[in-house]
Amino acid sequence: MTYPKRLIEVDLPIKRISAHARREKSIRHGHISTLHIWWARKPLAACRGTICAALWPDPADPLCPQAFREKAADLITVFALKATSHGKLADNCSQESMARWLTLTKPGNRLDPTNPTHLNVLRFALLDFIADFANWDNSTVKEYLETSRALTQAAHEALGGEAGTKPLVVDPFAGGGSIPLESLRVGADTFASDLNPVAVLLNKVVLEYIPKYGHRLADEVRKWGEWVKKEAEKELAEFYPKDADGATPIAYLWARTIRCEGPGCGAEVPLVHSLWLAKKGNRSVALQIAPNLQAKRVDFQIIIKQRDGWGDQANPKIKIQNPQFDGTVKRGSATCPCCGYTTPAEHVRQQFKGRGGGADDARLLCVVILSPGTIGRSFRLPSNQDLQAIEAAKLHLDQQKKSFKGPLSLVANEELPYLRSIFNIRLLDVTSWGQLFSSRQLLVLSTLIKLVRKVGEQLAQQQDAQFSTAIQTLLAFMVDKQADLGNSLCRWEPVAECSRQLFGRQALGIVWGFAEGVVSSDSSGGWSVQVERTSQALEALGSNWNIGGVERVSATTHPLPNDSATAFMTDPPYYDTVPYADLSDFFYV
Ligand SMILES: [Zn+2]
Repeated sequence: MTYPKRLIEVDLPIKRISAHARREKSIRHGHISTLHIWWARKPLAACRGTICAALWPDPADPLCPQAFREKAADLITVFALKATSHGKLADNCSQESMARWLTLTKPGNRLDPTNPTHLNVLRFALLDFIADFANWDNSTVKEYLETSRALTQAAHEALGGEAGTKPLVVDPFAGGGSIPLESLRVGADTFASDLNPVAVLLNKVVLEYIPKYGHRLADEVRKWGEWVKKEAEKELAEFYPKDADGATPIAYLWARTIRCEGPGCGAEVPLVHSLWLAKKGNRSVALQIAPNLQAKRVDFQIIIKQRDGWGDQANPKIKIQNPQFDGTVKRGSATCPCCGYTTPAEHVRQQFKGRGGGADDARLLCVVILSPGTIGRSFRLPSNQDLQAIEAAKLHLDQQKKSFKGPLSLVANEELPYLRSIFNIRLLDVTSWGQLFSSRQLLVLSTLIKLVRKVGEQLAQQQDAQFSTAIQTLLAFMVDKQADLGNSLCRWEPVAECSRQLFGRQALGIVWGFAEGVVSSDSSGGWSVQVERTSQALEALGSNWNIGGVERVSATTHPLPNDSATAFMTDPPYYDTVPYADLSDFFYV
């Protein structure tokens, strides 16, 4: 078969595109990754570059239609003129490209699409354009968008596409949606499908809801997000009580526990890796283990670093000599602070048999609070009020479970697969997804899910059905992010002084000590953080692309008729090498 080769078959500025792809990882504002996590989402830079190069023919190929060469020479010349005269456009041009644009715009250098030598120059000019367009800063610049879309259209029509139609890029394993989004950006139509319902939803938001509803989406997400926050705050207030002096807890720090197996001991050993609470600049706060040998109990005190050394927070005059910052666990074995005996790792794990990970019988070590009139966070030991609220939350969740009427259970009870060295939390007998959370964390999630449903019911009365689904979907994404930050595998981060999301790593490893954020707070783990981030992302993403098609189907029974796609572009799926649960059952989507 003879056909004009596409640019990607001849050359691609891989080094320059890769540099932009690497830089894109640190972009948070306005990137689709801020809407929802997706494993191995392809960098948009790489997708943009490869889609352009796959849709545009190589002008130097002998079979390239002359119509494309002519149109491309015109478009690139106009772009070069703008790039060399337009300050802002020039700022984000690479040196290589700028040298090319300056040459092209010199008098007498005008590209002649009938001259074979010039066609070679045109090929490299298109590749330079692609390399710079991969830059995140150029991805929404009008001149790049217009030029790329005109080139896509010219290629489509020159290659036999009907005038007025657009080429169709199909991604049958759309996943995180990078390829479909970039196809729309460069002026193609797109059809995205996936078997995974989460991937389908991500693509629906980006390809359908955002271009269809624009800024209205961000406004309504903010409005209903705030409504959910107020309602959740009311419903959950008794389970997250404020302190008598007006201080507000923003995080609770926990440790799973075992019984010491030392001869005649049996003390409860809280399992913690590190005792640091705050560790930034001059500010140093830590827990200190205070074993009560007679009662065979492990107590704690909070110590704080002062100019003249470490002192007890409760009574700074009491100096602490040789403070210890290492916790009780090392490589899975636990050393008892009361008797010094080390329970070996295997025995530690055995003690979790039947306890489902032990998040629900963990020991509360410390509470992080914000006090009125003071700046920054402080730490205090748990009070009876804290413990009572936690017990009340457990009881309340149990009642809710019993009275829950739904096709599924209130708490995700699907089996958690075991994947050696990736899903190691299974070793602590965590066998279902719900056991990744403590009861109070589950109560928060089920309350949020219920409220998101209520938003749907209210919206259905006043808006069109699809718009209501769009808002509910985005709120459901926020519930997912809440779950990522509100489970028993979230560690306390002493430098940032906040809890860290679980999926910063792509694993469900064993985490002994964990941090529980507070849904009504404005700190990490607070719902208002999700509301703000999601609506900001929607605003920053804009909606400057056409609506694409999205369906949940298997790639083996593709719904499109034969020969309807201009290009199939996809990233092969993982098959079953990485298991995932259908969380959509749980996190209302
Ligand atoms: Zn002991």
